[in-house]
Amino acid sequence: MNILVINCGSSSLKYQLLNMNDESVLASGLVERIGIEGAQLKHEIPGHDKEVIKTPMKDHKEALGHVLDAITHEKYGAIKELKEINAIGHRVVHAGEKYAASVIIDEKVIKALEECIELAPLHNPPNLMGIEAMQELLPGVPNVGVFDTAFHQTMPASSYIYALPYELYEKYGVRRYGFHGTSHRYVSQRAADMLGKDIKDLKLVTCHLGNGASLAAVQGGKVMATSMGFTPLEGLVMGTRCGDIDPAIVTFIMNKEGLTPQEADNLLNKQSGVLGISGVSSDFRDIENAAAEGNERAQLALDAFDQRVTQYIAAYAAVMGGVDAVIFTAGLGENSIDNRQAICKPLAFMGIEVDPAKNNIRGKDTVVSTDSSKVKVLVVPTNEELMIARDTLELVK
Ligand code: AMP
Repeated sequence: MNILVINCGSSSLKYQLLNMNDESVLASGLVERIGIEGAQLKHEIPGHDKEVIKTPMKDHKEALGHVLDAITHEKYGAIKELKEINAIGHRVVHAGEKYAASVIIDEKVIKALEECIELAPLHNPPNLMGIEAMQELLPGVPNVGVFDTAFHQTMPASSYIYALPYELYEKYGVRRYGFHGTSHRYVSQRAADMLGKDIKDLKLVTCHLGNGASLAAVQGGKVMATSMGFTPLEGLVMGTRCGDIDPAIVTFIMNKEGLTPQEADNLLNKQSGVLGISGVSSDFRDIENAAAEGNERAQLALDAFDQRVTQYIAAYAAVMGGVDAVIFTAGLGENSIDNRQAICKPLAFMGIEVDPAKNNIRGKDTVVSTDSSKVKVLVVPTNEELMIARDTLELVK
């Protein structure tokens, strides 16, 4: 059974074709600059050089047509015919309160996702374009929606309600939704496998630390709390997003600087985070280099980031009444040896002890805590595509 996984952004899309008999990747790639001059498709078959196809692509349907051509190309394709694609899994950002698990897409699901556009105006429209394009390009092949918000739907109301007038939740759905759900679900399942335990018996804190970053408290396989909120702006300090701030700061700055709501939104989402504090970059590698050269604001950005993660881990252990394992994933979580060490160091009082030698790894499934550490610490590279393909297989088989 071959499954095509698609992740559509506003002007780009990523894809992976997986053979689910052994979960191997047959082909993967990225289309950039859809609808813009200079569109290109980078296509890769494992073990071969990347193929770069430069051609105008006016919309997602045209881009996906080129993806299907590449996948079946006689020289650099992975399969001979399109009928070897048995199902398509789509990453969809927002399903609001409508879906707590992945679903086979039909007209009712599309309507529900259209109703969520208001909650994710930048993400759901391109996700929907990808679904509609695949329905036209491969008629009769089932499409499955896998939602970033779904895993977090198990949160109790006390975790998702904001202390605002309750009518705002009822009228507009203003509540915490949480994001990165597919990643939190994948790494929590993988961690349970690595620990040889049933996920139902575990209390986990999953730390997805990339350019966007979020934590989740996962108890018995269910999310009890997560740090991103109504939008992905809340919670941790991120690459360019501010995370938790006093909401009164927003109106204060708008008044002082004469900002429109759009400009304020841009400042909080694009000019803040470690970029805003350091003034150096949103990329942690640049900031680490600047800090090593003595740049104090770069060091301050790293310290502020680490402290926020530390605080959340301790808070989530309290929410669950304990914690068995802390899991690090995504670009920074998988690769930054120093940040993992700095985040965990103050948590020694809770029985969290990172082994410096074991922690000296990047991007590999590993237990990095000491043998005597009461709480296990793990690095688990995330694999959202595989999770999407597994859900798709489960629903269509
Ligand atoms: P992601 O959003 O998951 O792709 O993560 C991207 C971020 O991971 C980048 O912005 C970097 O800040 C961070 N990152 C990736 N590799 C490293 C590394 N070797 N050391 C520190 N940070 C890294």
